[in-house]
Amino acid sequence: MSIPTGKFQEYVLSAHEGFNEPAMREAFAQAVPLKTVVIYCLDPRVTEIPQAVAAYLGDETYPGEVIINESGSRVGSTTTLTAVAVAAGRAVDAIRSVSVLEHLFGVRNIVVVHHSNCGGTSYSAEGMIESFHHEHGTDISHAYDAGSVCITDFEASLTYDTKLLRSSPGVPKEATILGLFYNTDTGELTEVVRNEGVS
Ligand SMILES: [Zn+2]
Repeated sequence: MSIPTGKFQEYVLSAHEGFNEPAMREAFAQAVPLKTVVIYCLDPRVTEIPQAVAAYLGDETYPGEVIINESGSRVGSTTTLTAVAVAAGRAVDAIRSVSVLEHLFGVRNIVVVHHSNCGGTSYSAEGMIESFHHEHGTDISHAYDAGSVCITDFEASLTYDTKLLRSSPGVPKEATILGLFYNTDTGELTEVVRNEGVS
């Protein structure tokens, strides 16, 4: 490995002297008892979705407490659930994060949540492509996964996203994948899709 020279290299774990990748990975797995990843919308009206999913699933600790060692460093957390906030809660934007979380902590449940009156239901793919063409002079018609640009039917979008996750090589086949609909006004969660992992 080349000698690191960046200004913040002391904060890069893999740049520390004596770095041992398998030992580091083991330490991360011990640091957070993670089991569930929630993929939800970045809409500021629905920031409580991870909390609602933790209550829905039961047997979850969220947000948990940060564990601080004798030196004052933040070295872990008691949480079992973490969340990825992306536009409309579409899975396509979250798959890399799921893979990283699986690699470092292990993932048993992946929960996709789409919510009522989402901004993702306020436009069409054609409308967004057209506006980028006029307002920015750019063609985004092939820039994104066509089935993930917006939401026109919640059962279809949740089915699409759970299938997308299930078919991804970066998602553990043992993980259970859920697709839930969230009522933005009442906070009610409705299970639309459940795809059990292979044991
Ligand atoms: Zn939304």
